[in-house]
Amino acid sequence: MTEYENRRVVGQVKEVTSLANPLVKDIKALALKKFRDSQNAFMAEGLKLIIDALDLGWQIRTLVFAKAGRGNPVVEKVAARTVAAGGTVLEVSEKVLSAITRRDNPQMVVGVFSQKYMALKDVRPKNGDVWVALDRVRDPGNLGTVLRTVDAVGAKGVILIGDTTDPFSLETVRATMGSVFAVPVARATPDTFLSWRKNFPGLVVGTHLKGAVDYRSVDFSNRPVLLLMGNEQQGLPDDLANGCDRLLRIPQAGRADSLNLAVATGVMLFEIRRGALTLEDRS
Ligand code: SAM
Repeated sequence: MTEYENRRVVGQVKEVTSLANPLVKDIKALALKKFRDSQNAFMAEGLKLIIDALDLGWQIRTLVFAKAGRGNPVVEKVAARTVAAGGTVLEVSEKVLSAITRRDNPQMVVGVFSQKYMALKDVRPKNGDVWVALDRVRDPGNLGTVLRTVDAVGAKGVILIGDTTDPFSLETVRATMGSVFAVPVARATPDTFLSWRKNFPGLVVGTHLKGAVDYRSVDFSNRPVLLLMGNEQQGLPDDLANGCDRLLRIPQAGRADSLNLAVATGVMLFEIRRGALTLEDRS
């Protein structure tokens, strides 16, 4: 008997085919923010992403995989890691996996992880560190794309200000392409953010359609930088804009009023991190 078959026998791997199974119902319920919050959990899809999450120390509660994964050594290794971490492994039918992920062609593997936020007081940037603060970001695709971009440029993390979309929703997690596990996220009310900001040891730049300064004219080097981005509909409110050292604008031509939030964040981050990024050899 293989180690995996052993686990099945001792009940560490459960086979589930019914949508009425209570474990499956609980995982499906994670589609709702109310349940994600009460369970302090969220779902992520894809084998590579789950392996990365485990490597980065995220706590896995449940691993769900399609029957087709049985015998796949990589899946079985992840299953063994899940059991070793005290989690449950479910081997399910494709119908169950589709229902959990709400997709017709689901990934073969889904993981349920504990949520994790960084406390704002623990965000203590050093020279060269870049943090992004997002004011009331609404769109899960934007938040996911910002997290992915923050990861890609080697910025340190994201602070969510006010009432924002959930970084642990399935849509946001999908849009991060795994970066949700690599980028620390802190949360703050506008007031706690503004009082924390008073001790920020570097440059705080906001982006604003009325900003007087061209973003390309600023020297971002050799100090911590905090980049503050406004809400998709309303932009930065006055209290947050007044809390910035400088308000920057990305020049535009053409008829568009503004850039998409995630695009504007990307443009800013690549400028701020320009000196730190080199083309690595991928040949
Ligand atoms: N109607 C909103 C406004 O009046 O600000 C548009 C918000 S825009 C879609 C979302 C955010 O992206 C802005 O708050 C700002 O942070 C940033 N942004 C977009 N285009 C920008 C630009 N050309 N210059 C500076 N920031 C920009």
